[in-house]
Amino acid sequence: MKSMIIDYLSDVLEDYRPDDSGEQASYIPELAHADPDHLAVCLATIDGKVYAVGDPEVEFTIQSISKPFVYALALEDRGFDTILEQVSVEPSGEGFNELSLDDLGRPFNPMINAGAITTHSLIGGDDWTEGQRLQRIINGLSDFAGRRLQIDERVCGSELDHAHRNLAIAHMLRNYDVFTQNPPTVVEGYTRQCSLLVTARDLAIMAATLANKGINPLTGKQIVSARVVRQVLSVMTTCGMYNSAGDWVTQVGIPAKSGVAGGLLGALPGQVGLATFSPKLDNHGNSVRGVRIYERISRDMGLNLMEIPPTVQSVIRNTTVLNEGMGEDEVCVYALQGSLRFAGAEKIVREFSNQDIYEPKVAFDLTDVHALDRVARRMILEVARRLIQDGKKVYLIDPDDVIPAPNADHHADPHLKLKTKIEVVRSRSELRKEES
Ligand code: GLU
Repeated sequence: MKSMIIDYLSDVLEDYRPDDSGEQASYIPELAHADPDHLAVCLATIDGKVYAVGDPEVEFTIQSISKPFVYALALEDRGFDTILEQVSVEPSGEGFNELSLDDLGRPFNPMINAGAITTHSLIGGDDWTEGQRLQRIINGLSDFAGRRLQIDERVCGSELDHAHRNLAIAHMLRNYDVFTQNPPTVVEGYTRQCSLLVTARDLAIMAATLANKGINPLTGKQIVSARVVRQVLSVMTTCGMYNSAGDWVTQVGIPAKSGVAGGLLGALPGQVGLATFSPKLDNHGNSVRGVRIYERISRDMGLNLMEIPPTVQSVIRNTTVLNEGMGEDEVCVYALQGSLRFAGAEKIVREFSNQDIYEPKVAFDLTDVHALDRVARRMILEVARRLIQDGKKVYLIDPDDVIPAPNADHHADPHLKLKTKIEVVRSRSELRKEES
C-alpha cells in the first residue's frame, strides 16, 4: 500500500504553491537572491521515519532557527542557573532585533537577537575562544541534524557586511556587562552560526530530536537532556515566532521557530518533528506559505498542543475476584487500562481511598496499560505500599514490565518497613489456585 501521508502532504503542498505573497528578506542581500519558488514540507516521526514532499533537499541558511538549539547547548554547558541569570524567558513584544534589556539588565529571551547573541557568547566555558565556541555549535547542531552541517560563506559574508544592527546590540550587551568578550568577535561567531546550511529534511530531524526528548531518532544519540528540551520547547512556544506568538499558539499550537531564510521548524513533544521551507516572508518575518501549511496540518491532524487527548473513560476497566470462597487465597484483581499520568492515577487512588477491600490479596493487572509516566508509577506504588501496610498481599500482573523493579523505591527508603514485597507475576493464571 502507498502511504496516504505522502499523498496528504503533497495535496497540502500543491494547495499552497500558488500563494506568492510576501517578500524575501533583503537586509541580508544574499537572501534576496534565493529562488522564491522553492517549497518543501517534511514530517519526521520520533522513530525516524521521514515523509518529505517538494524540495526537501534544497539547502538554505538556518538563521534564527539556530537559536533554540544553541540555547539548548548553552543550558547543557553552563546549567540553568547561569543561563537564566543572563537571559530571561519572557516574550519581548518587540522586534527580534530590538536593542532592549529587562529590569534586571538581561535580554528578554533567547529567541531575539540580543538573547541569542548572549547565549552564543555563553557556549562552553569562560576561557573558550570564539573558534572553540563555533566548533561546539557546528558539532552540536550537526548532532541534532544527524549529518555534518557546513557554513554558507557567501550568506555569512553578505550578512557581516551589513551587521550594523547586530553590532549595535552586541556593543549594548558589552556595555551592560551581559558578556565580556569583544563584541565584533561574538557577532562574527553568531553570524556564522546563523549561516549553517540545512535542508527541510534536516530541520524535520532536528525537530524530531526535540520531540523525542533530545535523542536523535536517526542516530540514537542523546544530544541534550530531557530537562533542557522542556525548557527549549517552552521558550519556543512563547517566543519562537517573532511577534506573532499568540496567533501561532492559537492557530497552530506547536512549539516552533522560524528563520529569515524561509525555514520554519515545529516540534510536537512525543509525536513529530515538522519543517517547511519557502523563502517569502510576512510582515512578522515568518514564511508565508510555511505558516499557512502549518495551520492546515495542525487543523487536519489535530496537532495543537492544547487539543485535549482522548481520555480512557475508565482507568479501572473491571474488578474481579479470583479463587472466590478460598479464604486466604482470594485475590481481588483490578484491571487497569490506557496510558496513565497524574489524572488517571488519581482515579485509582480515589477508588482505594473510598472503599474497604475484604480479600486478603490485591492484584493490579497492568496487561492493558500501555505506558505510565513517573508520577503515575509513584502513585500506584504508593497505593500498593499502603495496602501492604494495611496487611494485604499485593501483586502486579505485569507481562510487559510497564512497572519495572516495583520494590526498588521501598528498598531505598528504610523507614518504609514493609511487611512483604510487591510480587510480580506475568499472568492471572499464576494467581489461580485449583480447588481441592
Ligand atoms: N542572522 C539573522 C540576524 O541576526 C537571523 C535573523 C532571523 O532569522 O530572524 O539578523
